[in-house]
Amino acid sequence: MGSAEERYRELVKRISVCDRCPLHRSRRNPVPGEGPLDAAVMVVGEAPGRTEDEQGRPFVGAAGSLLTKLLAEAGLDRSRVYITNVVKCRPPGNRDPTDEEIEACLPYLLEQIKIVRPRVIIALGRHAGRTLFGLAGLRWEGMAKHHGRVYDVVVAGVRVKLVVTYHPAAALYKPPLRDTLLEDFRTVVARVVREAEGRGLGPKTILDFLPRGGASGGEAGCRHGSRESGGREGVG
Ligand code: URA
Repeated sequence: MGSAEERYRELVKRISVCDRCPLHRSRRNPVPGEGPLDAAVMVVGEAPGRTEDEQGRPFVGAAGSLLTKLLAEAGLDRSRVYITNVVKCRPPGNRDPTDEEIEACLPYLLEQIKIVRPRVIIALGRHAGRTLFGLAGLRWEGMAKHHGRVYDVVVAGVRVKLVVTYHPAAALYKPPLRDTLLEDFRTVVARVVREAEGRGLGPKTILDFLPRGGASGGEAGCRHGSRESGGREGVG
């Protein structure tokens, strides 16, 4: 099976020559993702924009600067986070990725989750949100309903705390969203990260490799998320 590094190198090679969807024709560089392979926290955005396409790195444009600040608000240095997107190549003109493009790229995200085995996944924007919800076997009912909640789920065989919030680019265009985003990072993201740190951000324990057990698991291992403002996650 190989080490995480070997599997990751192989994955990046596959992405670099990928032609599974039409986006490969217009990309300058594929953007696989970056960050430590043992990161406890994974951020999943939508798709590369112009700057990311130029540099081959995720979240390096204006939305990326805001993301770096938001992570800091949650007590996270960006260098400790693995950052990727649902779609690895830039949709022309920064249009939304299509369902077919998301579907074609999905094996790469699944493999990244299996390699990194994060404890927390932060999905940014509705495309990342609905994709991660789908992978977790949950029904997507819109950002207004799900943002700022914690979902205890299994994705690609990995048990994670899933948090969905607005995309930083949306906050750049709609300033009122910035406060909501900031609040989600300062409260719910900060708390799940603190909890993950409490279990140690270093090598993972046997608990991370065991299937979710017990009677509390619901659909696809989900426990219902609840809003941070209640001061608790609302899980047993
Ligand atoms: N927006 C995204 O969703 N991803 C990036 O990498 C940059 C901007």
